[in-house]
Amino acid sequence: MVTIEGPLSVKEVCDLFKLQRIDVIKKLMNFGIMNVNQRLPLEVVIKIAEEYKYTVKVLTAEAESQMAEEADDHSKMVPRPPIVTIMGHVDHGKTSLLDAIRKTNVVESEDGGITQHIGAYQVDLPGSGQRITFLDTPGHEAFTQMRAHGSKVTDIAILVVSADDGVQPQTIEAIDHAIAAEIPIIVAINKIDKPGANIDNVKKQLAEHGLVPEDWGGDTVCVEVSAKQRINIDGLLEMILLVSEMRSLKADPTRKAVGAVIESRLDKGFGPVATILIQKGTLQVGDPVIVGCTCGKVRSMANARGEKMARAIPSTPVEITGLDEVPQAGDKLKVVTSEKVAREIATHRQIAMREERMKLKKHISLSELFSEIQNGKVKDLNIIIKGDVAGSIIALSDSLKKLSNDKVRVNVIHNNVGAITENDILLAAASNALIIGFRVRPSALAEKLAETEKVDVKVYRIIYDAIDQIQQAMVGMYDPTYKEVVLGRAEVRQVFKISHIGTIGGCQVKDGKITRDATIRVVRDGIEIYEGKLKSLKRFKDDAKEVTNGLECGIGMDKFNDIKEGDILEAFEMQEVKPSEMSGQAQSKENRR
Ligand code: GDP
Repeated sequence: MVTIEGPLSVKEVCDLFKLQRIDVIKKLMNFGIMNVNQRLPLEVVIKIAEEYKYTVKVLTAEAESQMAEEADDHSKMVPRPPIVTIMGHVDHGKTSLLDAIRKTNVVESEDGGITQHIGAYQVDLPGSGQRITFLDTPGHEAFTQMRAHGSKVTDIAILVVSADDGVQPQTIEAIDHAIAAEIPIIVAINKIDKPGANIDNVKKQLAEHGLVPEDWGGDTVCVEVSAKQRINIDGLLEMILLVSEMRSLKADPTRKAVGAVIESRLDKGFGPVATILIQKGTLQVGDPVIVGCTCGKVRSMANARGEKMARAIPSTPVEITGLDEVPQAGDKLKVVTSEKVAREIATHRQIAMREERMKLKKHISLSELFSEIQNGKVKDLNIIIKGDVAGSIIALSDSLKKLSNDKVRVNVIHNNVGAITENDILLAAASNALIIGFRVRPSALAEKLAETEKVDVKVYRIIYDAIDQIQQAMVGMYDPTYKEVVLGRAEVRQVFKISHIGTIGGCQVKDGKITRDATIRVVRDGIEIYEGKLKSLKRFKDDAKEVTNGLECGIGMDKFNDIKEGDILEAFEMQEVKPSEMSGQAQSKENRR
């Protein structure tokens, strides 16, 4: 009888079952496992154990079963306050609105009443006995990040639109993020005190983006407010309650608590501190909990006013102490039967998480689309389109939607002009979407994030290529014969115009290297403006074969003289894809040229 907690290495298997390495490797080959450097999945370890007549006890299987979602008992469900997130374009007044709401309605505490930032707060509505919970990190970025990490906490989104500025790019982004999460939107038309306020114009723009105001015959609730002058804040709160009543939000406060981390930090005195939003059940001081990959026992709980609490019911945000480590925003909290069980699950999860990181694919990719459709795993193909001009985006979006068939529906969940940003990657991760860039590039940070979040980003220069590849992928004919490999990037620091020669960019290599034979893509503000070969690559006066990271060089482009300061010159080459590599390309940008 042996006890194991998770996947083991070949060496650990040898030690545990007293076997020779060669015997284990032979067994693995029989199972079709050729890579002996990887940790072996539990089921393989168990199979080997069984062959050598060992009984295996998987320590955590029992404990983990406690983590299975318990079904709700409908007879015990009672109404709970709605949880609200504020979104909108920068400077439209999200922070001011959160402050105005907090100041008008939070019951002041006895010791001066200044609320602390713990990531969320609750307001009491006088007279009605009702409450609303606000997440006070405004913006759809934080919201989608939580969603990408598996936590859906928000019930209603408040979209703040400034009455004098109207619908702006981040307004549209916020709308798409809320719709992708399937939560209702209430529009707060803000700054109505300003002389330039034009409410009708805002409503017209909203209607153009699919949010038709109620007084225009649609079903979007719009409330006119001024966060600065505190005008109609109560009206907004009433509307939130009305919308939440229609959704009849309920939870069972009698069960063991389930919640989500909305913020966390390491405190010098208290150790790991996390703000938990309770979603189901009641959390009590002393409860043993598992939170993401860490665990502990709730030592203390406090609300946003710093008041100690002994228990927290659904929709209440509380700051807790007593965890072993700092969890991540978006991690789930669950109360379990004992600290011992919590510890076992945490150990198991840490191993599982390492495994998870080693696995190649998480989100949908073109190369696996067909098999996922066939397995019935993908019924909706979600796509985000970013492009250099609105016209091409619309054309591409319309054509892609037409590819829908009876097995899979193509949805364009977000599109916009501009470079591929980190927000796009997060939205793709949260909504299992592909990203298509048309003559635009991911920013360096977005590219890194795409790699960690395993989001497939494809860039094209020709609309037909994009449509063709996705169509091919849907029927299993996708054949990325070549993939693009980025060699490096240089930034243009200075521009020299030299007669008879042309324009030379005085550049610094920012990452990787620039080689004489590479193809160069000229990227300005994330938009691809030219692609072609090099005419010259020089270090000081000498011709260079390649220039590496950190060094300066002069670059002349063939047939292109419009280099400007700040341009990014991206060097890449096309490499043939070997069949064995095909399944593991989460983030390559295949192109067929
Ligand atoms: P955020 O970037 O969306 O969080 O916007 P802020 O809340 O920081 O507000 C941006 C600016 O708009 C600040 O200077 C606020 O004082 C101002 N502002 C916010 N709400 C109002 C309002 O209702 N009326 C007026 N006149 N100014 C406002």
